[in-house]
Amino acid sequence: MEYSQDNSLEILLSEEEIIARVSRLGEEISRDYANVDDLVLVSVLRGSVYFVVDLSRCLTVPFTLDFIGINKYGNTKDSMGIVRITKDLDVNISGKNVLLLEDIVDTGLTLNYLLKNLRTRNPLSIRVCIFLDMPGRRIVDVPVDYRGVEMQDVFVVGYGLDYQERYRNLKYIAALKKD
Ligand code: 5GP
Repeated sequence: MEYSQDNSLEILLSEEEIIARVSRLGEEISRDYANVDDLVLVSVLRGSVYFVVDLSRCLTVPFTLDFIGINKYGNTKDSMGIVRITKDLDVNISGKNVLLLEDIVDTGLTLNYLLKNLRTRNPLSIRVCIFLDMPGRRIVDVPVDYRGVEMQDVFVVGYGLDYQERYRNLKYIAALKKD
């Protein structure tokens, strides 16, 4: 069992558990895409980078890696779900098989926006792979094809997830007690 030195953190998923789940996802995706050409992994900046680096090294199929940067406008009722693209894809995904990779899906609003946006570019297929799923907080229903871990409704940090830009580099995932 891992313990954090920081009293505000409660470890929920250890580094070993993360590695095991990521490699299982990698096997599943490699199997499903074994006979599929033109796979493009789309990583959502910045949180998913840690996950994507680990996952991509578990894949046994060829792929192109690209990044899309987003900024969420706010957390008020009116601004929720409004997303701005801060860095667009470099790759043209028309006619390609896209696998969208996100660190966490919570309300589903960000993923919903991204899927709508990417679909307008006429990819051959789009699937979604997320590391953490919090179905209890969902506002819009979004399709999830591959999921690492389902979690209870808590604010988590680590493995790419931040709180005010802190904690991204933790090797584990922890609940953050904000007080
Ligand atoms: P959604 O649009 O599904 O509510 O949220 C997606 C984004 O919100 C994630 O990509 C992530 O940046 C942020 N987010 C949602 N829940 C959490 C959480 O528990 N911890 C952290 N650090 N970020 C979260």
